Amino acid sequence: MRNLEALDRKSRVLVVDDDMMLRLLMRESLEQAGFQVIEAEDGSKALQCFVETPPEIVLMDVVMPNMDGYAACAALRRLPHGQDTPILMVTGHNDVESVHRAFEVGATDFQAKPINWALLGYRVRYILRASRTYRALKNSEARLAKAQKMARLGHWDWNVSEDRWHFSDGACRILGFPQGDCPPNREAMLKLIHPDDRDHVFQLFAAALRGEEKYEIEYRLVLPDGTPHIVAEQAEVSFNKQAQPEHVEGALQDFTERRQAEAKIQHLAYYDGLTGLPNRRMFSEQVAFALRAARRSKKPLALLFVDIDNFKSINDSLGHGTGDKLLRQVADRLSLSVRTSDLVSRPDKESPAPPVFRFGGDEFTVLLANLQYEQDALLVTRRIRSGLAERFVVGGHDLFATASIGITVYPSDGDDLKTLLRNADSAMHHAKQKGKNTFEFYTESLTRISIERMNMEAKLHRAMEQGELKLFFQPKVETQSGRLAGAEALLRWNSSTLGSVSPARFIPLAEETGLIIPIGEWALREACGQMRAWEAAGLPSVSVAVNVSARQFQHSDLSKSLSDLLKETGLRPQCLELELTESTVMADVQKQNLMLQSLSEMGVRLSIDDFGTGYSSLSQLRCLPLDALKIDQSFVRDLPGDEDSSAITLAIIAMAHGLGLRVVAEGVSTEAQLAFLKEHGCDYVQGYLFSPPVPAPEFVEFFDNPDLGFCRRKRS
Ligand code: C2E
Ligand code: MG
Ligand code: MG
Repeated sequence: MRNLEALDRKSRVLVVDDDMMLRLLMRESLEQAGFQVIEAEDGSKALQCFVETPPEIVLMDVVMPNMDGYAACAALRRLPHGQDTPILMVTGHNDVESVHRAFEVGATDFQAKPINWALLGYRVRYILRASRTYRALKNSEARLAKAQKMARLGHWDWNVSEDRWHFSDGACRILGFPQGDCPPNREAMLKLIHPDDRDHVFQLFAAALRGEEKYEIEYRLVLPDGTPHIVAEQAEVSFNKQAQPEHVEGALQDFTERRQAEAKIQHLAYYDGLTGLPNRRMFSEQVAFALRAARRSKKPLALLFVDIDNFKSINDSLGHGTGDKLLRQVADRLSLSVRTSDLVSRPDKESPAPPVFRFGGDEFTVLLANLQYEQDALLVTRRIRSGLAERFVVGGHDLFATASIGITVYPSDGDDLKTLLRNADSAMHHAKQKGKNTFEFYTESLTRISIERMNMEAKLHRAMEQGELKLFFQPKVETQSGRLAGAEALLRWNSSTLGSVSPARFIPLAEETGLIIPIGEWALREACGQMRAWEAAGLPSVSVAVNVSARQFQHSDLSKSLSDLLKETGLRPQCLELELTESTVMADVQKQNLMLQSLSEMGVRLSIDDFGTGYSSLSQLRCLPLDALKIDQSFVRDLPGDEDSSAITLAIIAMAHGLGLRVVAEGVSTEAQLAFLKEHGCDYVQGYLFSPPVPAPEFVEFFDNPDLGFCRRKRS
């Protein structure tokens, strides 16, 4: 208090009056009260004084020559700092009109004449204090606003009973409204929320209003100009005695830059700057995650350690710039080889990128999770090797980059990252020692897998001769009518020693070893023979689809052996349909097109199996002589609940119909899937809902009851 008084005492007062006597009296009285006084005899002198020796307060007479008190007051207010200096108008006229005018031109207060000299000092001191408090408040408000702006903070409040909303300038800024043009209410604000987040925000706010939940949420906004933002919002609800919400105060903070910075940091921490691949750190985390999943699912997992051969000599002879470019291309090829692999062809939602990592220098790692069989790792290894086999063109040089690959498998070779990695690394070194450009399994699994493979290969050789292979038939149903439309022939191997072996297991092996050529031919012959037998027995003719593998398709004799077969059996070619996989056809469209044309001219129908898992382009499909597309079961499985699968299914149906092709959905196993496909115009369906693949004698039953709906009724 004493300090404040000392402050007041030193304060400078500008006294403006044309009456010298009055100025003298004022000086007397104010100096006694401890103020420092300066004088001016009219308005224009007052302005000059104000600029030269700025006072803390002005006492201003109203009636003066040259420039009167009103004009001087208005002019003072326009000067720099003139806004904040209190001006006390000393008016002779104690009438309402002049007081009103004084306030209009910006006076802080008025003092009527005659003046009570004893009280003047107190009056001035009081005004000075009030003005100081006001200035401090204004400063702190400005500081707060600045801090809020820097922190991208804003606030709002809602008077619930009157439904009155107020948004601060900061809040308006965050919401993308020009200042002073804030949203009128919460409704307008809700419209800015990203449609996917809106329900959640709405529900949490409603729960907070019922007093059930704390309102603290982060969500996305789409501003009026279309830019996406991320905000964090908190609100506190006050309730009245009836437990009704009375008042809500909220704070809003723009998190966009923070989240972007976090994403950037995350990217720098987890991705390699040169190749753009995820790095070693990401690899460790992903492997740990995949191992946990593998323990639950009991499915094997493989790690590939890929080391580029002789990379050092490329760096040494052609320079690091060329070396870097080569590494980038190698990274792209690795990603492509792993992506186009059947095993990981359908990227899942969590990791859309192929699981290839830059481990360091010229070392890459590949994580193959969720494998069906351990030997599937071989397929990917083979793809990687053939992907790298093509020459690289880097800065005008033709380069070849081979790799030495070490493979370890969980659980056979270890059940933690460290062990698996050490074993993969040692397998890779083993491959290097064997002369590079090769791959090695870590010994334990290598021994077991190769023995298993050799075993199975030998058994598969004998299987045909010993009649262990059979063809089963699965009905294909016309979606709208529910009637039998045909069948798909599927191989079955019932081995005398191994028991029943799934085609998913022996077909890849048959492809690798070339056995698929005689096996495929056998299947075609068997299917044609079966159709003729049904015809001969007087059964209505149906078309049978036979799967043709890539290797078989690329074999130049296919069209010749097929035409021989048709002649020999006398079967109408229209009854035979060949199912080819997307990757078979798309591998080299121009070359395959010739084969497709010759088959099509023969009258045989052609369809693409497992459609949607490869990368077909519409323009490529258009010029092929196809009849149908078969939607892959991985999409059908998640119908109708999964949004992505539904969207892909609808897109395939629309695209196929646009190209004049029929659509078959495979793997239909529920009524809900059937209803969805029926509603959206899928032409044919196939799956366990109707029947699993069955031996030919059992299939005859479907001819007697062409309405396949009966199968479903029979089972339920
Ligand atoms: P694909 O041609 O896509 O055959 C469909 C697979 O889905 C068959 O498996 C069939 O039994 C199964 N399936 C049918 N309905 C359902 C269902 O409702 N739910 C589920 N989860 N699965 C269903 P399969 O018989 O094990 O054959 C697997 C793959 O082996 C075939 O896939 C095909 O690519 C290949 N394959 C089978 N026979 C031959 C053949 O003669 N030659 C060639 N090259 N490949 C064949
Ligand atoms: Mg098929
Ligand atoms: Mg299929």
